[in-house]
Amino acid sequence: MELACLDLEGVLIPEIWIEFANKTGIEELKATTRDIPDYDVLMKQRLRILEENDLKIDDIQEVIATLKPLEGAKEFIDWLRERFQVVILSDTFYEFAKPLMAQLGFPTLLCHKLEVNDEGYITDYKLRQVDPKRQSIRAFQLLNYRCIAAGDSYNDTTMLKQAESGILFKSPKNVIEEFPQYPAVHEYEDLKKEFLKASVRDLSLD
Ligand SMILES: [Mg+2]
Repeated sequence: MELACLDLEGVLIPEIWIEFANKTGIEELKATTRDIPDYDVLMKQRLRILEENDLKIDDIQEVIATLKPLEGAKEFIDWLRERFQVVILSDTFYEFAKPLMAQLGFPTLLCHKLEVNDEGYITDYKLRQVDPKRQSIRAFQLLNYRCIAAGDSYNDTTMLKQAESGILFKSPKNVIEEFPQYPAVHEYEDLKKEFLKASVRDLSLD
């Protein structure tokens, strides 16, 4: 039994906060974990900015709905789902990902959750667990699945390590250099080949 585990942002869809900042013109929302390494501090800042700009969850989803998955992502995930059970492991939130997941045909997504009050304002967020991507792979392995995982960034590396096979996709140069043990590819056609190589089953490319 094999599972394909994919990161979401940077692999199938653009970085939601960056794109959201571009669409709304709110520069402060461009901060990422590279600028503010403490995720809790970063998220609190983001929620404060949303509040200051009087943005409700509906307004945010409307903007996010104008974003598109990366070119070729839908075709890739359709291809993958014909050959593997696919699970997306992400550090995003269901409420943000939803409009983009709709465009991808709603594949299975494990991620975090926002808390929204009766007026539609985001009041807090709930992380599913600590080190969620690696913990998910561990859990699947306990169910006798062997996991092939692909991701682009630092928050994917514990998942890649835990999986039977790990693949870097569209990663920046620093990540590729720091983790030379994983094959690194940038196009969906090459990612398909890496999944076939990592599989212990007899699968075809077309
Ligand atoms: Mg990513």
